[in-house]
Amino acid sequence: MLSKEFVCGGKAIFTLEVPESFQKQENTRPHYTYKVSEPKFTVPFLFVSVLTGPENTKDYTYLGILFPETGIVKFTEKSQFTNDAPCVRLLRRVTANLWAGTGAKIEAAGFKLHHEGKCGKCGRRLTVPQSIECGIGPECIKGMGYGAPVVTGMDIARNGGIMEDVYGSPDWETENDWYKES
Ligand SMILES: [Zn+2]
Repeated sequence: MLSKEFVCGGKAIFTLEVPESFQKQENTRPHYTYKVSEPKFTVPFLFVSVLTGPENTKDYTYLGILFPETGIVKFTEKSQFTNDAPCVRLLRRVTANLWAGTGAKIEAAGFKLHHEGKCGKCGRRLTVPQSIECGIGPECIKGMGYGAPVVTGMDIARNGGIMEDVYGSPDWETENDWYKES
C-alpha cells in the first residue's frame, strides 16, 4: 500500500483506480491521477493537483493544499473544485485512510492506488520490492520516521468538529464503506 510518506515526499504522482460499480453508482471517472508537490517556499503544506486533460505531464488542475501532519486536504482561493467533486471526495477518503493506517480498506473495497514507479521524494526509479510497495526508495526512507504514529485526520475531526470539511458530506453512502469512519 502506498504510504503517507510517499504522498508527502514532494514529488508524488499517483493514480486511484475506481471500481466499475462505484463509477456507475457515484458517476465518477474510472481513475484519478493526483500530483502532490512541495512548494518552493517553506510552508507547512503541499500543493495538490489532479490530472484533467490528455497530456499527462502538464494537464493538471490545481485542487488545494495537503497538510502532511494530518492528511487533511483544504481548498485555497485558487482551488478549481468544490467539496462535492468526486476527485476531492475520493482524495480525502484516500488520505484519511492512509493517515489512519487503514489503507487496506481502500483495496478491500475494490479501489487501487498506483504510483508511476518513481520515488515520491527524489523521483528516482523504484526497483526494490519494498520500495515499490510503499513508493519510497531505500535511501529516502532513512530518517523519514517511516511508520511513526501521526495525528490522524480522524482525531482532528473528532476534536475540532470539522468532519464536514475534512471528509465531505456524510450522505455519500454506498456499499463501499471504506471511506466511512469506523
Ligand atoms: Zn528517493
